[in-house]
Amino acid sequence: MKFDQVRMFKSVKAKIIILKGGEYKMAYKITEKCISCGACAAECPVGCISQGEERFEINKDMCIGCGTCAGVCPVGAPEEDND
Ligand code: SF4
Ligand code: SF4
Repeated sequence: MKFDQVRMFKSVKAKIIILKGGEYKMAYKITEKCISCGACAAECPVGCISQGEERFEINKDMCIGCGTCAGVCPVGAPEEDND
């Protein structure tokens, strides 16, 4: 499934896609390194990144753990959320 198609799904359906594939991917979080450039929010396939009070934030309930945000971030702020 292409990211353009995934983008249409809401959070619950996104999680079902992962389960059907038999693969679990950990949600990401944005660390204090964030400089609020917005690049990750523009590329997230499920639209779960938004501007927070201090930096951009990820809605963990929606994140499908694709790692796109980490790939486009210029300062390496997104990391897997092990909490
Ligand atoms: S890993 Fe990043 S780009 Fe992928 S769904 Fe989660 S927040 Fe969006
Ligand atoms: S791409 Fe990196 S620096 Fe830019 S808003 Fe996202 S986490 Fe912050």
